[in-house]
Amino acid sequence: MRLHEGARAPDAASLSAEYDLVVAADGAGSTIRTALAERFGTTVERTAPDYVWLGADRSFDSLTFLVSDTPRGPVVAHVYPYEPGRSTFLVEAAFKPTVDELSELFADRLPGARLLENQSRWSRFTQVSNAAWSHGNVVLVGDAAHTAHYSVGSGTRLALDDARALAAALRAEPSLPGALAAYETGRRPAVEHT
Ligand SMILES: Cc1cc2nc3c(=O)[nH]c(=O)nc-3n(C[C@H](O)[C@H](O)[C@H](O)COP(=O)(O)OP(=O)(O)OC[C@H]3O[C@@H](n4cnc5c(N)ncnc54)[C@H](O)[C@@H]3O)c2cc1C
Repeated sequence: MRLHEGARAPDAASLSAEYDLVVAADGAGSTIRTALAERFGTTVERTAPDYVWLGADRSFDSLTFLVSDTPRGPVVAHVYPYEPGRSTFLVEAAFKPTVDELSELFADRLPGARLLENQSRWSRFTQVSNAAWSHGNVVLVGDAAHTAHYSVGSGTRLALDDARALAAALRAEPSLPGALAAYETGRRPAVEHT
């Protein structure tokens, strides 16, 4: 086995011609899936509202929702602890307040705490879905196959469970088409439920 670290994968057609199986685990913007989008029946939607990913130098006990009503619309923060003294502070809003404005809006609920930036920028969640998760010898796993909204916090687990299910199906089924069908049949209900 050869491992190419930090290298861009070749295009979908070359991979498909050279290898028995191509596992597209290249994320929500998957190049391999995009090249075969019509075959997979791909839908990609950027959903409102805008969000920005920040931190707070304060530990919340558990997942907490903070809402601030402003003349420009509500601003909602999903806050949860990730280490002692630090929390994730994810903000959704119909407009794009600055970090200083956010600190002011939530000052009463964050007494003495600072909001922390780390290459934080406003963005929109990308909802990816595919009518089929495989085509020929190319199969989608993780965000390439389906994204899970960040408020659910399960995208990484779903991606790893996909990989495990695919490996199990490849071991159990005698043919590649059978294994890819079994993988999708097994995983799709759990993903759609999430
Ligand atoms: C704002 C936000 C917050 C989130 N919070 C959580 C959370 O709290 N908990 C959680 O479980 N999930 C969370 N998720 C979701 C989680 O990040 C994803 O579901 C997960 O990373 C999907 O894993 P993946 O391996 O499918 O894709 P990715 O993690 O995107 O990995 C794809 C990899 O493929 C590489 N790649 C892409 N194209 C090529 C190419 N042509 N050649 C070679 N390499 C390539 C990329 O560099 C990348 O390393 C969040 C997502 C977002 C957007």
